[in-house]
Amino acid sequence: MGTVMITGASRGIGAATARALDADHELILVGRDADALASVARTCRSARVVTADLTTPDGVSAVADGISTLDGVIHCAGVAELGRIDETDAAQWRRAFEVNVLAVVELTRVLLPVLRAARGHVVVINSGAGTTAKPGWGSYSASKFALRAVTDTLRGEEPGLRVTSIHPGRVDTDMQRAIVAAEGGTYDPSVHLNPDSVATAVRHALESTPDAHPTEIVVRPRRH
Ligand code: NAP
Repeated sequence: MGTVMITGASRGIGAATARALDADHELILVGRDADALASVARTCRSARVVTADLTTPDGVSAVADGISTLDGVIHCAGVAELGRIDETDAAQWRRAFEVNVLAVVELTRVLLPVLRAARGHVVVINSGAGTTAKPGWGSYSASKFALRAVTDTLRGEEPGLRVTSIHPGRVDTDMQRAIVAAEGGTYDPSVHLNPDSVATAVRHALESTPDAHPTEIVVRPRRH
C-alpha cells in the first residue's frame, strides 16, 4: 500500500503505528533518538530511519532529502508540558508550538510535491486537548487547537489529498506517564488507551475506500 513516513516513530504512538503498518508498507521512521529508532526499525520488515530534530531547518531537510515518492505522512511527533498560564513561561509556549504546530506545517510543506503526485494522505495525531481546553493545559491545548486549524486549512487547500485529524484521549505512553506525574497522580496504564488502538485508527484512515475522506477520528479510552 505504498510508502509512508511516520514522525515520532522512536516510541509511543509513532512506534505502535510503525508496527501496525509494517506488513504492507515501506516505512520511513523519523525521530531524534537514533538507538530507539533503530530498535523499532529492527522489528519492521522494511523501514528506513532518519534521525532528525523536526524543529530545525536542517532536520526537516534531512527528512525530506531524496524522497521521490510518498503515499502518506503520519505526524506523531509531539510534546506536552502542563502548567497554569500564570506559571508557564514563554519558552514552554514556544516549545509546544515549535514541535506540535510549526514542525508539522514545515514538514508537510516540503513534502507536498510528492504527496500531491501520489494523491496521498496526511494523518495528524492531534488530541482531545485540540478541541477542549482545560485549566493547566494551556500551552499544549493551544498548540493542538492551532494544529487542528492547520489540518482543516490544508484539507481545504489541497483537494487532491486526504487529510485526517485523529483526536485520542489519554494513551499509555511515556508522554502520559510524565503528565500523570506532573498532575501528582498514580499511574495506571489500564485506564488509558493502548497505543496500538490509536495505530489501528491510523490504519483505518489509510484504508478508507477511495471515495471516502475520513476527516476526523475521535478515540477515547473505553470505561471499565
Ligand atoms: P511520546 O511517547 O512522548 O513520544 C513523542 C515522540 O515525538 C518521540 O518519538 C519523540 O522523538 C518525538 N519528538 C518530540 N520532539 C521532537 C522533535 N523536536 N523532533 C523530532 N521528533 C520529536 O508521545 P506519544 O504519547 O506517543 O504522543 C504522540 C502524539 O500523540 C503527540 O503528538 C501527542 O501530543 C499525541 N497524543 C498523545 C496522547 C497521550 O496520552 N500519550 C494523547 C493524545 C494525543 P524522540 O523520543 O526520538 O526524541
